Amino acid sequence: MPDIIQLLPDSVANQIAAGEVIQRPASALKELVENSIDAGATEIKIFVKESGKVLLQVIDNGKGMSGTDARMSFERHATSKIKKAEDLFVIRTMGFRGEALASIAAIAHVEMKTTQKDTELGSLLIIEGSEVKKQESCAWSGGTSISIKNLFYNIPARRAFLKSDPVEMRYIIEEFMRISLANPEIFFSLHHDGNEIFHLPQGNLKQRIVHLFGNNYKEKLVPVEEETSIISIKGFIGKPEFAKKTRGEQYFFVNNRFIKDPYLQHAVSGAFDEMLPLDTFPFFVLFVDIDPARIDINVHPTKTAIKFDDEKSIYAIIRSSVRQSLGKYNISPTLDFNNDPAYANFTQGGSSSNTMPAAPQIKVNSSFNPFLANQGINLNQNSSSGSGNAPADFYAYGSTSFDQPQATQIALATINKEAEDWIGEKKSPYQLHNRMIISPIKTGFILIDQQAAHERILFEKYLQQLNAQKAYSQQSLFPQTIDLSPVDFALITELLPDLKLLGFDLREFGKNTFIIDGIPAESTIGNEKAIIEGLIENFKQNAAFAKLDKRENLAKSLAKKTAIKAGLYLSTTEMTTLIDELFACKLPSVSIDSKPLLLTFGLDEILKKFEKA
Ligand code: ADP
Ligand code: MG
Repeated sequence: MPDIIQLLPDSVANQIAAGEVIQRPASALKELVENSIDAGATEIKIFVKESGKVLLQVIDNGKGMSGTDARMSFERHATSKIKKAEDLFVIRTMGFRGEALASIAAIAHVEMKTTQKDTELGSLLIIEGSEVKKQESCAWSGGTSISIKNLFYNIPARRAFLKSDPVEMRYIIEEFMRISLANPEIFFSLHHDGNEIFHLPQGNLKQRIVHLFGNNYKEKLVPVEEETSIISIKGFIGKPEFAKKTRGEQYFFVNNRFIKDPYLQHAVSGAFDEMLPLDTFPFFVLFVDIDPARIDINVHPTKTAIKFDDEKSIYAIIRSSVRQSLGKYNISPTLDFNNDPAYANFTQGGSSSNTMPAAPQIKVNSSFNPFLANQGINLNQNSSSGSGNAPADFYAYGSTSFDQPQATQIALATINKEAEDWIGEKKSPYQLHNRMIISPIKTGFILIDQQAAHERILFEKYLQQLNAQKAYSQQSLFPQTIDLSPVDFALITELLPDLKLLGFDLREFGKNTFIIDGIPAESTIGNEKAIIEGLIENFKQNAAFAKLDKRENLAKSLAKKTAIKAGLYLSTTEMTTLIDELFACKLPSVSIDSKPLLLTFGLDEILKKFEKA
């Protein structure tokens, strides 16, 4: 038998490595920017076309490379950052594996221009699929520019696996936020398809946070600072009352590297304890500095996981320093730290203050009843779901996957009888404790959870609107503006076509800002901002915890936000309408969280209880 084992050619080995390191445009960008940081750059400019699928370019003013190094940098395991195994224990640079550039060059068209400081003549290098196509001298000064074109051009399966442009762009923005948070002393800009999305001047961490998340974060931040013999911690946490329903805004860095570590994240959240509203997550941007010998960062190719030698002590230190900061904040609620006059004048681009006439203040009445005439929700206005005889297309949900648990199917089969009984009987319903509706039917009575019922009605209605491509919007007399974080802005942009179908009329207005011209017909005017904010929160939460189809998620998030709540008084007509609409639903007995929303009590059973049957 001949020997059959061969060493893979480098180009193949590189493609395999690329599979681990470069999952999507955002991961390629991360590698490039980290190289620029390692090269000591103080200015990093990023240009992206079509969410990185067409172009990713990073230009830095770092130390650059000689011609030979430029060529070497694309070789596998070629690095200037470690020389021997022991160096692995003292790593302070972002890179060290020497495989990013080799991997990227194996799966894209790459062009590099680089020159060392104070030289006019640089090197130009063009590599396509690991093959050097050109290397020559070029005019270029101070730093390095790397362009990656047509990522995954030779791995069609990987390219096909990429998400839509807006989604890939969100990954890029998330990566950008992590890196720019960790390096506030570096200038960053990010351009996408010709628009500058971020322009981050050099500054301190607090300024960087405000630039990235919005001006209103100025008042939300509490500083954390602690030095111990094992680790030092610094950064900011958000005040408990600003905690959000999603975990999105939590940034943990170890030796300036973004790390996903549920255990340490828990140390921070745990410190907040009972201060946090139920099911909310605090904002934090925390930096732990630790002797590199005490951690192992080389546990995953993307370097977002880490091992500590003494995890328990680190947990305890983090927890107690966060607690201490919260304690201080509780004593003096309006901490005025870092009062920097230049900073006080700082305003975020596109904020409503001086760029447009002030929007009138509309107070929101929390005891508002959307059922009352002329105030908003009119359960009858949508004729398609207004009664038991809904048009046939009401049931046409297209491709939307209703994930029906078996119990639901059974409930669905039996509920028709109650619906029939209800329609045949029509006795006055009665409200219990302003949260349940009790109504007689021929064979007994039904008990309905009013909030869950209205959520179900709205959910199906919104889903129908999304699939029928028909929108009903009500125009605002005084359009409000809404300032969003870049991530939320990108999310809304991604959802814009569907939001339109739901009745939202949004106009982009400068950086990270929308003008709200209209909202869905049944929501409350004056409440536009809160509706959109709530919608984003719900949507992100659903996306994180339940794997919902995008439209289903949108319909659900909006239904949750706009439905009537438990505690609201309903008139008899309102209750009757609600029950009519409920029975016109596809799944009238199951809440949109897959819990029961309607219970039936049979007369027979009841009589039995009275020992009469
Ligand atoms: P690593 O960062 O792990 O060393 P890479 O493949 O990312 O491996 O880069 C290989 C080498 O190329 C780096 O060690 C560095 O010497 C050089 N290099 C890459 N990008 C730059 C840059 N923007 N400026 C200067 N040198 C760079
Ligand atoms: Mg690198």
